[in-house]
Amino acid sequence: MAKTRIGIWLVGAKGGVATTSIVGLIALKKGLIDTAGLVSQLPQFQNLALTDWKNFVVSGHEIRDVSLVEAAERLADDNRAIDPKLVAKCRSELQKIDQRIRPGTLHKVGKTIAALAAKDIPREESPRQAIDRLQQDLVDFVESEKLQHVIVVNVASTEPAVDTAAIPESWDALKPLLEKPRKCPLPASSLYAIAALELGHSYVNFTPSLGSAPAAIDELARLRATRHAGCDGKTGETLMKSVLAPMFARRNMPVMSWVGHNIFGNLDGKVLDDPINKRTKVASKDRLLGEIFGYQPQTHVSIEYIESLGDWKTAWDHIHFSGFLGTPMTLQFIWHGSDSVLAAPLVLDLVRFTDLARQRAWTGRMTFLASFFKSPIGVDEHRFDRQFQMLEDWAAQG
Ligand code: NAD
Repeated sequence: MAKTRIGIWLVGAKGGVATTSIVGLIALKKGLIDTAGLVSQLPQFQNLALTDWKNFVVSGHEIRDVSLVEAAERLADDNRAIDPKLVAKCRSELQKIDQRIRPGTLHKVGKTIAALAAKDIPREESPRQAIDRLQQDLVDFVESEKLQHVIVVNVASTEPAVDTAAIPESWDALKPLLEKPRKCPLPASSLYAIAALELGHSYVNFTPSLGSAPAAIDELARLRATRHAGCDGKTGETLMKSVLAPMFARRNMPVMSWVGHNIFGNLDGKVLDDPINKRTKVASKDRLLGEIFGYQPQTHVSIEYIESLGDWKTAWDHIHFSGFLGTPMTLQFIWHGSDSVLAAPLVLDLVRFTDLARQRAWTGRMTFLASFFKSPIGVDEHRFDRQFQMLEDWAAQG
């Protein structure tokens, strides 16, 4: 029987999260690292038919003119997020992958992201023309690497928010808009989703951008008997929120205010420094508290770009809550982590679980992946332990 070969197509293929995911995948294949940080390696998932790391092949779309080796070296040398010796051992594989990466699309990404792009990235295509081109790249990838399936993962820069009221609810109504560049409200993240899903491939949105969230794109996924998930990987401060908020709720200690300040200095931080792009991220980080508590405490989320910090993000959270006798009390925490190193194993886990969902013929929204996301589409449950139970229950269904 032919060996299973599954493609991972990273949108934003030379960014911090993508590069760290690629280095991690190469290192796993070569047995250079252990499995710390990888959820799919937990004991309760070991009886599943999860595809071996060796059977994944990676490529993607990018808009910047940089080399993958340089991107990895920057994470190692400038950011000290990855061991430089590990990057050196992965160098030839990184060079090979770099040659497969194709130019992305800039449709409705906003001026801050467009300013990052190389001159040769197409700017005049209609959404349909862009999708056709992206699809040809996926078709070529499948043919040249002899793949059974591709999982497209969006790890590109956060786009400005979209007026979702302007998006038709059915695929039949949305499809003709793809021919009309001015009228089509969809940003690049949604065009990548359509490109993947129309071909029957899977799509995962690790960013807060719109991606596959519209009902019409979910309908497309179900029509093509394929699957999707998102939005916005839950890697640090918001993960803490989804763990701590249920504790306050269960001890009947009303939270009066929750303030979170985030500072970091990587390229993601630079893009989020544009208030239009930042709004998308702040909404995603702020949404869950009201939904967990059932009431809305006063909240404040700030995200500041501090260049010298590079990939190292510090989040300081101040939680003001009420105890017995109405006595006010405070919890504060400081989370300090390498953003890309926190995110990369989750990207790899998402790919593995998505491939298992393909084997199980799952179609539509992969709601069982909610624990991986800040704003899980199709799920109102934000408590981390309950979300994780959803994953374990799904896994146990066999
Ligand atoms: P990054 O800026 O390092 O990488 C983004 C990459 O996407 C860049 O290489 C950029 O050139 C590329 N890009 C931008 N627009 C594109 C397009 N239309 N098509 C193709 N490529 C495009 O950012 P990052 O730190 O790698 O984060 C990636 C995304 O993941 C961001 O949206 C971020 O908000 C999200 N995210 C990150 C974390 C985390 O790092 N812990 C957690 C949750 C979500």
